[in-house]
Amino acid sequence: MWRVRLRNTLIPKLLATALLVSAAGSAGAPQAVPNRPPLQPGVFTPLPLGAVKPLGWLRQQLRQQAAGLSGHLDEFWPPLAKDSGWLGGAGESWERGPYYADGLVPLAYLLDDAALISKANKCVGWTLENQHASGWIGPAKNRDWWPNMVMLKALTQYQEASGDARVIPLMERYFRHQLEEMPRRPLERWAIYRWQDEVLSVLWLYNRTGDRKLLDLARLLEQQGFDWQAHFDPFRYCRKLAKSETSLATHVVNNAMALKAPAVQWLVSGEAAAREALDRQFREMDRCHLLPNGAHSGDEHYAGLDPTQGTELCAIVEAVFSLVHVIAATGGAAFADRLEKLAYNPLPGTFTGDMWAHQYDQQANQVLSSIHPRAWTTNGPESNLFGLEPNFGCCTANMHQGWPKFAANLWMAAPGGGLAAVAYGPSQVSAAVRGGATAILRAETAYPFRDRIRFSVRSPAKATFPLHFRIPAWAEGATLTINGKKSPGVKAGTFHCVERAWAPGDRMELTLPMGPRVTRWHHGSIAIERGPLVYSLKIGEDWRKIRDKAPAADWEVYPTTPWNYALRINEARPDRSVEVIEKPLGAMPFSARGAPVELRVKGRRLPEWKLENGSAGPLPESPVESAQPLETLTLIPYGSAKLRITAFPWLKK
Ligand SMILES: [Zn+2]
Repeated sequence: MWRVRLRNTLIPKLLATALLVSAAGSAGAPQAVPNRPPLQPGVFTPLPLGAVKPLGWLRQQLRQQAAGLSGHLDEFWPPLAKDSGWLGGAGESWERGPYYADGLVPLAYLLDDAALISKANKCVGWTLENQHASGWIGPAKNRDWWPNMVMLKALTQYQEASGDARVIPLMERYFRHQLEEMPRRPLERWAIYRWQDEVLSVLWLYNRTGDRKLLDLARLLEQQGFDWQAHFDPFRYCRKLAKSETSLATHVVNNAMALKAPAVQWLVSGEAAAREALDRQFREMDRCHLLPNGAHSGDEHYAGLDPTQGTELCAIVEAVFSLVHVIAATGGAAFADRLEKLAYNPLPGTFTGDMWAHQYDQQANQVLSSIHPRAWTTNGPESNLFGLEPNFGCCTANMHQGWPKFAANLWMAAPGGGLAAVAYGPSQVSAAVRGGATAILRAETAYPFRDRIRFSVRSPAKATFPLHFRIPAWAEGATLTINGKKSPGVKAGTFHCVERAWAPGDRMELTLPMGPRVTRWHHGSIAIERGPLVYSLKIGEDWRKIRDKAPAADWEVYPTTPWNYALRINEARPDRSVEVIEKPLGAMPFSARGAPVELRVKGRRLPEWKLENGSAGPLPESPVESAQPLETLTLIPYGSAKLRITAFPWLKK
C-alpha cells in the first residue's frame, strides 16, 4: 500500500494509468479470440497481451531491456523525440515511431511498469486522437501504407492490454478507407513484401467484429502483395548474392517477415498448397542460408552459409514474431524449437549484456567487432559495431519487440478449452479455460540454462481441461511427472497432452535432458549445442568506446585471446568430450562474465587460420590436422559471447 500512496502523492498521472490497467484486468480472465469461420481455426490461438507474465530471470531480462535503450530511446534519439511525426511533430514520419510502439507497448504491459506504460500509451495516443476524416492514420505527410501496418500491429496489442475502446472503431474506419483506396492506390515498395503482417491485423479485427468486408481486404492485400510461394518454388537464390542481384525480394528482413506468409494465406484460404509452401519455404531458406545460431544469413541480402556472413537484427526480431504465428497456425513443435533457438541465441547475442548497445549485423563466427569493410552483400563498414545506430537506424527502432513478443507467447490457448506451453521460460499464465474458469499456472525454471521446469496450478478450484507440453526434438528421454507420478508416452518432437481435472496445488515437473549435441555446418565444421542453446568459444573481450553518444555509445570489441582452434570431439558420444559446468544465474546472463553455463572441450590451434578483412578467414575444410599442443577450451552460450567462434573445424582422429 505504501508504494501506491507514494505514487499518489508524487506522480498522480502514473497512478491513474495503473488503475486503468488493473480495471481492464479485473474485467475477467484474458481470453484468446479464436479465428471466426470461414477462417481456418489454426491449432493454437495466441493469448491477449497481459495473459502471460514473465517471472524470474526472464522478467529480469525485460527489466534490463527497460533500463537500457528500450526504456530511454525516446528521451534522446531524434526520430522518436518530440518532433516525431507520430507525436504530431514535423520530424520522422515513416516507420520508426510505429516500430518503437510495437516493442514498447508489450514491454511496458508485460512489466506492469506504470512509467513505461505511460510512455507506451503516448506512442499510440497521438494516432488514436488524430485519425483523418478519410480514415487514414498517422502523420499527414506519410502516404505509404507500410508504416501504418506496423502501427496497426502496435494498436492491436495495446487494445488487448488496455481495453481502450477507441482502437476497434479506428481500425474499422481505416480498413474501410483502405479497401476503397487500394484499387486506385496500390501497395508500393516495402508494403508489397510485408502485406502478410497487415493481414494479421485485419484478421484480428474480423475475429472481433465479424465484418466480412475485412476478408475482402485480406484477399486484396494478398493479391497486391508479393507472391512468396512462387519465389520459393523453385528458389533461385541458393548462394551469397552479388550486389547486382539484390532486390526487395532478397532482403533479409522481408524474408524473415515472409516466413509466416503461407501460414497467413492458409488461415484465409484453407488451401493445402499453402501448408506445403510453408514447409518448402523453411526448407529452402535452411538449405541455402541457415547459420549455426539458428538465424538465416542476410547482410542485408541473402548471404549463404559461411558463418562470417551476418544477419541483421531486424530479421531476428521479425523471425521471432513470424514463428509465433506459424506455431499458432500449425501447432508444429519443430517451429517452437526454432523460436527458442532464435530467442535464446542470436537475439541476446547481438546486444550488450546491459542492452544499451546493439549490432546491425551479427556473425556466428565473430572474432572482431570494428569499423571495417567486411564481405557483406550490401551493408556498410559499421554494421557489426555495438552501438546506438550502427549502419542504419531501423534496428534501433525495431529491436524492442524481440524479447516481449517471445515472453508474451510462451503460452497459447489450445483446442478444447486448453492451454499449451509452447516455449519455456519462467512465467505465469492466467487465461480462461474450458467452462469459463480462469486457470493460473506458473512455470518456475532457470531454463534454458538448466534442464528442469516446475509447473504449479494456482487456480481454479477444480477444472478439467487439456494441457499441452512441448517436448523439444532434442529432448530424448524427457520425463513429465504430475504430483510425483510419471506421465506415460512423452515423446521428443511433439506436444504431450494431458487432460485431467486440475486443482490448486497440482505440481508438474518436466525434465528435458540436455546432453551435448554436435551439428554439422559449412565446410564440414561442427557446432556444439545443448538444449536450446548453442555454445561458442569464449574469447577475451577488449571493449573500446569509439564515440560517445550519451547516454549511449558506440563500441569496438577486440579479442585478447586466440580464437583459431579446431576441436577434438567424439562425435558419436559428445558427452565423453564435453564437460558441463553450471555457474550461478546472475543479473546479466547474456554477457561473457555472467554466463550461467560453461562447457570445457579440447582443441588445438590452427596457425594458418587467420584474420582476413576483419573476419575469421575462410573456414578450413574439416577434418583438419594440427601439431599445436592440446588445450582445454571454454565455451559459453552464444548469447553471452560477444566475440565468438561457433562453427569450428575439427581434428582428424
Ligand atoms: Zn534493421
